[in-house]
Amino acid sequence: MTSDSASFQRVSTWDDQGTAPLKAMSMDRGTSGSIYSEETGGASPCMGCFDGVPRMLGCGPAPTVKEDVDVILIGGGIMSATLGIMLMELEPTWRVRIYERLPSAGEEASNGWNNAGTGHAALCELNYTPDNKETGKIDCSKAIAINEKFQVSRQFWAYLVKEKLLPTPKTFINRAPHMAFCHGEEHVDFLRRRFEALKKEPLFEEMEFTTDIDQIREWAPLLLQGRDTSKGAEPIACTRVEQGTDVDYGTLTKHIVRAFIAKGGVYQANTTAESFKQDPDGRWRVILHKEDLSKGGTKEVRAPFVFIGAGGATIQLLQKTGIPEIQGFGAFPISGQFLCCQNPNIVAKHPNKIYGMASVGAPPMSVPHLDARIVDGQPMILFGPFAGFSPRYLKTSSVTDVVSTIRHHNLIPMAAAGLQNLDLTVYLAQQLLATKDQKLEALKEFIPDARPEDWGMTWAGQRVQIMKKDPKKVGILQFGTEVVSSKDGSMCGLLGASPGASISVQVGLDVLKNCFPSKMAGWNPKLREMIPSFGESLNNDAAKARMNMAFTAKILEI
Ligand SMILES: Cc1cc2nc3c(=O)[nH]c(=O)nc-3n(C[C@H](O)[C@H](O)[C@H](O)COP(=O)(O)OP(=O)(O)OC[C@H]3O[C@@H](n4cnc5c(N)ncnc54)[C@H](O)[C@@H]3O)c2cc1C
Repeated sequence: MTSDSASFQRVSTWDDQGTAPLKAMSMDRGTSGSIYSEETGGASPCMGCFDGVPRMLGCGPAPTVKEDVDVILIGGGIMSATLGIMLMELEPTWRVRIYERLPSAGEEASNGWNNAGTGHAALCELNYTPDNKETGKIDCSKAIAINEKFQVSRQFWAYLVKEKLLPTPKTFINRAPHMAFCHGEEHVDFLRRRFEALKKEPLFEEMEFTTDIDQIREWAPLLLQGRDTSKGAEPIACTRVEQGTDVDYGTLTKHIVRAFIAKGGVYQANTTAESFKQDPDGRWRVILHKEDLSKGGTKEVRAPFVFIGAGGATIQLLQKTGIPEIQGFGAFPISGQFLCCQNPNIVAKHPNKIYGMASVGAPPMSVPHLDARIVDGQPMILFGPFAGFSPRYLKTSSVTDVVSTIRHHNLIPMAAAGLQNLDLTVYLAQQLLATKDQKLEALKEFIPDARPEDWGMTWAGQRVQIMKKDPKKVGILQFGTEVVSSKDGSMCGLLGASPGASISVQVGLDVLKNCFPSKMAGWNPKLREMIPSFGESLNNDAAKARMNMAFTAKILEI
């Protein structure tokens, strides 16, 4: 049974394994703003155990609340929020629930302080355009694919703004020109060839290139303050796309959750998904734990479709579901730190996001960059992230996370991936051991006259990379994202970290395609209303690309 064939009509109140019928529960969402309309079933308290322990041992009180819904989304980050609002738009009568373990939405990787806020469109991130040494050509395919996905996000956000489901765009998205900066003959040559290759592509036609010092000074004054630009000095070059963006994904997540609730979705904070069981009819029972005054505080909710958008913790929860598709997957967390400047005189001189070249062994998205940011409405500059290692999958989770996911089926792939990425290990160790002075030196590559007193340090979120089985290499470390779903489409989760929040709308579409294939034709008109380029490539049609980008830029005020 696929999830879309599972009864997505209102299902009647169900009893526990067909025994004592529960009292009727009202499944109507209503408009009262109250989160739950439900009644409690019979609790069977576990005598003699300390609260919490019984749940871990599986001998705790039976869940006190049982509820049938249409869709369960685990995690209140950008991914679940986006899928949640999409579903409310496509199927307004479905009962969709989001459960989040923290007190508010968008507080983990999606929080503005925990990520770099780049609207990744591959305009300046050099790792998306590898230089093929054999052909001497720059490979633009990955950059184009990422840009297409970001245009999908822009269109969906513009739709939500137009529908007044999102407030003024300035609260979550702002223009920040995207620049790439290279120095030295070899790197300058790479940047020029990259520019020449990308400039021909419709989605990149606004890109500019320069080696002219005055032009660079005008674009990015901080880059040249204190730099030797005399004749004979090392050559430098920049590319720029004026219409790059800085996105406060944390604020956007909170806005989207509000829209989800306004559309009738139910969002419940302080509620942790703990375990999963699939019934013979294909529906999933999810046991949730809520911090409240009841004994045990557990609740059981059942739905024909579950999405796990638990960020780094998704791997742990997918393993708990027991779906075979998660076998062979492991996950490797990389922590990070940003340098942060809030001195208004410096911040005013830096409206851009500037990316440079990666060091040997650096994970692609840990290439330090100098980012103009607006987080919670506050302008600042963040530099980094400096990568590091922490065994946690979330900033706020346990140090035993990595160990807890080791299984017989992923041990060898994880070990193989680790051995093949020793340069990454060395890089992480170097970053971990880097002193304050070394971090300042890295910053001085971008701002030669940076002063230590202007820069503080802040912890970024956890980026959890995928490790998985590979037929040729036994195990590989993968830096992208991957939607993993059960064969029947009823259980699905998102693994991986980058390009991340920028492509959250495309991730939502991928989940819909994977898990509701027979619904897609019926949803097509609404999907095209929300995302006019849905199902098409903008890069293949220059006129359409121009029109589309101009339209979203106008609505999003960027
Ligand atoms: C340093 C860094 C820089 C980044 N830079 C960028 C960037 O510039 N641009 C970009 O697009 N992306 C960037 N990303 C990636 C981006 O932040 C993430 O891809 C995105 O935020 C992931 O969203 P999510 O909803 O999957 O996860 P999260 O935002 O982590 O949300 C997951 C939620 O699930 C909750 N949860 C976990 N377990 C449970 C449970 N058992 N029950 C209930 N709830 C649970 C968590 O509390 C959390 O709120 C960056 C990430 C990092 C760490």
